[in-house]
Amino acid sequence: MQSWKAGFRRRGSVSAAIMLVGLSLTAAASQQERAAMPPIEEIAENLYLLAASDSADRASWTGGNTAVFVTEAGVVLVDTKLPGYGQDFIGRVREVTDKPITMVINTHTHFDHSGSNNELPDTITVVAHENTRANMARAECNPVTNCEAFQGENAKYLPRRTYTERMSLFSGPEQIDLYHFGPGHTSGDTFVVFRAARMMHTGDMFQTMNMPFIDFANSGGSASEFARTLSKAVAGVSGVDAIIAGHSNTLLSWEDFTTFTGFMNGFLDAAREGMEAGTAVDAAADAFLARDHPGFTIDPQRVHANMQAIYDGQ
Ligand SMILES: [Zn+2]
Repeated sequence: MQSWKAGFRRRGSVSAAIMLVGLSLTAAASQQERAAMPPIEEIAENLYLLAASDSADRASWTGGNTAVFVTEAGVVLVDTKLPGYGQDFIGRVREVTDKPITMVINTHTHFDHSGSNNELPDTITVVAHENTRANMARAECNPVTNCEAFQGENAKYLPRRTYTERMSLFSGPEQIDLYHFGPGHTSGDTFVVFRAARMMHTGDMFQTMNMPFIDFANSGGSASEFARTLSKAVAGVSGVDAIIAGHSNTLLSWEDFTTFTGFMNGFLDAAREGMEAGTAVDAAADAFLARDHPGFTIDPQRVHANMQAIYDGQ
């Protein structure tokens, strides 16, 4: 099996991969072997987690969080981490059920969330927001969008089921609700709610308790709309206690999600006030960083990049 490193090299996405997690291009990209798939953890009845590792630790990084949901009809994966993990998914699922993987829900297009789609049996049904399908199906691939993975014969791994605002899958205790509330991390982010478990996979609309990476450059994300989209999610989703965030290796709470939403609204307000006052963008970013942000570990580069994006109307 080829290493994920080789996969990225071939597609020329190393710098994009580094950018995604806000690291500078260092030895990190060139030294480590492909990281081991994490163990499968039960987090609710019929619901399991293949946890995201720390994306700053390249030696253990496998991509974003994957939720594994066992239904009567088969196994549903929410997101498929980096390229190179198809067989590992099949092996981990076999540890908890004899049922095959029949469906993948991609929260968005990025290579660390849809990387192994095309290594799963081609009988799977892929489900995503219609804008994510469009991002995946582009003829010209932007960095990190992973659309190279869906060209030619692999077009069969493009989402077959899409939706616009909301869609429910399965019923009764197996019900899964998909929500899209507008542009944010990309143009096609899905919030996935497991009804019976009262859990929600947020994709990268909520990555960790950090300033998020926002892909306004390549995938239609919006730093200006991000906070409003989060507020719509807080108002529009109910019955959720626990959060599977895009890149947190532990479960977070609904309260963490609302705290993060408040943080992002505070950031938007700071940007608007800075613009109105004629404050230089870097000074506005530094002023936001100088504030107290309890519970957050903040990447200053992202604050500057996202502040610039809001100033630029992106
Ligand atoms: Zn992402």
